[in-house]
Amino acid sequence: MGESLPLQEGEKPIAWHWKQWLTTWDKISIWRKTPIIVVGKAWLVVTNQRILQVEGRFIHPFEVRSWKDDSFNQNGSRTLSGCQVTAAYSLEDISSVHETHGKNVAGALVGTLHIQMKSADSLSISANPGVLSLVPIINEAMVKRKSLLQRQQAKNVVIDFSWVKEYLNKGGIVLTTIKCPQCGASIDLPKEGSTTKCGYCRASIHAQDVLERFTGLIKS
Ligand SMILES: [Zn+2]
Repeated sequence: MGESLPLQEGEKPIAWHWKQWLTTWDKISIWRKTPIIVVGKAWLVVTNQRILQVEGRFIHPFEVRSWKDDSFNQNGSRTLSGCQVTAAYSLEDISSVHETHGKNVAGALVGTLHIQMKSADSLSISANPGVLSLVPIINEAMVKRKSLLQRQQAKNVVIDFSWVKEYLNKGGIVLTTIKCPQCGASIDLPKEGSTTKCGYCRASIHAQDVLERFTGLIKS
């Protein structure tokens, strides 16, 4: 019992809601005349990295009605008995998520969750109100994911003086000399490297700090 939901490194469930019941009769049990039903539920799970469709299946005696959502417990635990991920959508591959409402052939109101992928694929899931309540949560998770990935990418860029010079140039600033933050002496901007030393007071000057000092000017 208690298989884990297979998650990626650093992935945490944020919110989820059951999507539908899954029910299939076990033929052997009919033959044995013991009513056994294979029952399960499908969830839509929003994590900080993906939207997952998860199915959990359980072999139960007949009294399945008492079985509730709580088995996917609310404290962020990954434990869900016998669950498997049947579909996964990375948040960064999604371009938008929205909901629509309409009537089915029987005239009943039905909601649909639409997930539009950047690849032009799109997915429509018929959804109960609980699933639809995940829409703003998904949108927020997408924004957070995007900014996290951008920050990670920025860290991988080596900020050296030539990069800073070029970056500021694009923003309309021509930087040739900088002031030592410690003694105020004028220093020629080095052609390369990510740190230099003031020729007067030997203070270390980092390309990253120079960048941060001047990017404020670009924005304003
Ligand atoms: Zn100095």
